[in-house]
Amino acid sequence: MSTLLRGIGQLVTNDPALGAGPLGVRTDAALVLADGSVGWVGASGRAPDCDQVVDVDGRCVVPGFVDSHAHLVFAGDRSAEFDARMSGRPYEAAGIRTTVSATRAASDEALAGNARRLVAEMLTSGTTTVEIKSGYGLTVADEERSVRVAGMVCDEVTYLGAHVVPPEYADDRAGYLDLVTGPMLDACAPHARWVDVFCDAGAFDAEESRTVLAAGAARGLGRRVHANQLGHGAGVQLAVELDAASADHCTYLTDADVTALAGSPTVATLLPGAEFSTRSRYPDARRLLDAGATVALATDCNPGSSYTTSMPFCIALAVREMRMTPAEALWASTVGGATALRRADVGRLTPGAKADVLVLDAPSFVHLAYRPGVDLLHQVWKDGERQVPRR
Ligand SMILES: [Zn+2]
Repeated sequence: MSTLLRGIGQLVTNDPALGAGPLGVRTDAALVLADGSVGWVGASGRAPDCDQVVDVDGRCVVPGFVDSHAHLVFAGDRSAEFDARMSGRPYEAAGIRTTVSATRAASDEALAGNARRLVAEMLTSGTTTVEIKSGYGLTVADEERSVRVAGMVCDEVTYLGAHVVPPEYADDRAGYLDLVTGPMLDACAPHARWVDVFCDAGAFDAEESRTVLAAGAARGLGRRVHANQLGHGAGVQLAVELDAASADHCTYLTDADVTALAGSPTVATLLPGAEFSTRSRYPDARRLLDAGATVALATDCNPGSSYTTSMPFCIALAVREMRMTPAEALWASTVGGATALRRADVGRLTPGAKADVLVLDAPSFVHLAYRPGVDLLHQVWKDGERQVPRR
């Protein structure tokens, strides 16, 4: 089955060889989707015959979004905590631990149902690839089922046993570290592609983080780091030193951190939904981009600090609040996210890439930031199949 998308007013390929600028933009273009992949890209008037033809009537077409950082395996609701934070009232809730309690108490079916619902919600706003972390179980059994549930709904699964030290290990950090790098890792590694650690004040320090990442790597897992979100710290330097695919958050960076990221393949993944939802300062995206670092945007979707599934919302924040250009924000949300997952088959519309395609109800990708809060998704195609809207 092959499909010809024609009448594309503006096509973003993300391949400079196929069009103008870093986004490889073409006008009056057509795209062939065949066997789940992009089969052909070119001028509308020169398109080959296909089994079906879909005319998009001058609309803009971009690659599906790649959300490379999300925490979708959880139970419970933390809207009261958000309400308190936004109302300026002090709130003494135990944060992540609230979600840990609810997650441990939930059935497998409830966890899977919630994760599936959120992945479906992501698809309606154009996310066709998502990474999902564990990290709200924090026992061997609960982390194992978390990565298993993640694997049911996505193919980029990250083991985050080192999210926080759970309350029952408050007086025995070394004991928890032994668990995370021993039996918990043994149970989770077969279901995961990545290992992650929250390297920040109040979570894990540099040496603890190094231990977690080394143990995961010894089991064949790629490395990712929650780095420098809450303050200056060792996370970014550790990520670069250990060739992590991504250092995520990057809110508090020294000049040395920026230089290290710019000189390495480690992607700086920025998560502006977290700063928005916690009313915190945004990362300095311009400093990273101007230094030459590779930047990705992701939602950090989680019930505590960033409960959004919308990449278009993150693009709007990145442009308005972090001074990224609309083109930089789109690149970071597609091929940037793919690079953060070390994937070459998503985030671009080039022959051989996955046929994950968004048709926007707009003449230009700039509308993603220009029309904040507006659902612009006219069509979503995943693996060459047109998706039925959830609502
Ligand atoms: Zn996170």
